[in-house]
Amino acid sequence: MTTKQSDHYDYVVIGSGVGGGLVVNRLSKAGQKVLLLESGGEFQSDQTVSRSIFSNYWNGGIVPMIGPFICPFGQAKVFGGGSVINGALVWRTPKKVLNKWAALFPESVYASPNWAEAESRILEELGVSASHASYQHGNIASKILAKAAERAQMEVVKVPRATSGCVNANRCGSGCVNGAKNSVDKVFIKDLPNTTVSTRSTAFKIKKSGSKWLVYYRQGGVRKVAWSNSVVISAGATESANLLRKSKLSKTAGDQFKFHLNYKIIAKFKDKINPEKGTMLTDQIQEFMDEGVLMMTSNFTLPYLASSLAHLSPNKFNEFIGKSEHTAIFTVMVHPEIKALVRSLCGQTVCFWKWDDTSFETSKQGITLLSKLLFDAGAEELVLPIKKSNSIVGSSMGAEEMINHTRQKDLVGSSVHGMSACRMGNNPTTSVVDFDGRVWGEKNLYVLDSSILPDSIGESPQGTILTTIEMILKRWNL
Ligand SMILES: Cc1cc2nc3c(=O)[nH]c(=O)nc-3n(C[C@H](O)[C@H](O)[C@H](O)COP(=O)(O)OP(=O)(O)OC[C@H]3O[C@@H](n4cnc5c(N)ncnc54)[C@H](O)[C@@H]3O)c2cc1C
Repeated sequence: MTTKQSDHYDYVVIGSGVGGGLVVNRLSKAGQKVLLLESGGEFQSDQTVSRSIFSNYWNGGIVPMIGPFICPFGQAKVFGGGSVINGALVWRTPKKVLNKWAALFPESVYASPNWAEAESRILEELGVSASHASYQHGNIASKILAKAAERAQMEVVKVPRATSGCVNANRCGSGCVNGAKNSVDKVFIKDLPNTTVSTRSTAFKIKKSGSKWLVYYRQGGVRKVAWSNSVVISAGATESANLLRKSKLSKTAGDQFKFHLNYKIIAKFKDKINPEKGTMLTDQIQEFMDEGVLMMTSNFTLPYLASSLAHLSPNKFNEFIGKSEHTAIFTVMVHPEIKALVRSLCGQTVCFWKWDDTSFETSKQGITLLSKLLFDAGAEELVLPIKKSNSIVGSSMGAEEMINHTRQKDLVGSSVHGMSACRMGNNPTTSVVDFDGRVWGEKNLYVLDSSILPDSIGESPQGTILTTIEMILKRWNL
């Protein structure tokens, strides 16, 4: 098969997501000639939910994480990456995490006195705010959860989001239908000088040639190659590691993949809460964050409710669907210590995981806490995230009992936050990149995305990903 040669660049950036979007912006503004390769296409706002998930997610929907239960991992394949299909929550890095990383790695960006300033700059560029007009109307599910938590004197925080003009369409996960999200394609990749953007272009191999790099990629059916002085891999949580492994450029990539676990609880209330009129993630319960548990609502659409109830018996399924105006979906997010593996089998990404000593117990505690809170908030019945045709409970005690008797393989969870598959560190045997994001043993080959975080953080990660990269690029003196 012939390979078409392309121009020569200062940098080839692979992936236009949260990390790649910021990288290309800063490189381009510093006068570098950049080629940006993105596997996905431009986001189309007129697609159905299922079509959008098929088009804009890696592997056509989910990456399977094979373990005690098969945990679907969702990540982007679209111009703008995760910022197009995520909830747009942008948190500052939790203080506890930052202090831990600064102490572990005093020579890293995490110990820099300029961290908070860089973080503020990023939040401002993305238009992040915790007081949106859309928080005032609809969102009854969030409000009743927050009230119940406040009555129990728990810490409840308004959620900071990168949106402007949100109309509570409930479609964050399949891409915003009215363009309210301030995603990186709109904020960082627009109108850049010196930059060539190539969508539907998948890099499959990176190779050294003298002092240059060759990046092989496929665009449509055509094989192409780009020459570059430097390469930045920003292909996301699993794909940066896969690309390094396939190119035989790292032996450790993909060996320490960290992720958060999400469990859904569906709650039916006596009164109508009209979730389709808005179920934004306006409030987050952070009372148990140090124990690795966060609680919040989840976006609501009827197809999402139906797929979440699919394991129930037909009668119970119909009962809940028939009461959809009274029903909302809530999430408990757990921060496990599990180290998973990222691998590629027959060209498809697969991860492998096992429970660690504590994460199963933390998962059960998180589900129990949220169940109790939902009954305190007035729920009549809950569907628990347990593989059973009747995982329905009508009281806190019933929930506790069912959760206590749940086996490790019977939980039903998923994940959308992956990190650390190419973690940075000070030791080439336990990390993949150094504190400048440079792949150990290589010159001018970098990874800059979620995969370089030293560990998982227990909160939505894009604020931390962006600030880490902003600070590393400052170290490059661009
Ligand atoms: C449904 C959902 C909701 C989420 N909600 C939030 C939230 O509210 N707040 C938050 O902080 N985080 C959220 N996240 C997580 C967040 O989006 C990710 O952590 C973040 O996008 C990771 O950034 P990244 O740069 O590592 O990769 P991504 O943003 O995933 O970008 C990687 C890009 O690289 C491209 N790519 C991969 N391989 C190749 C290749 N070989 N060649 C060319 N291109 C390639 C992909 O197509 C993709 O566009 C959510 C994620 C999902 C899926």
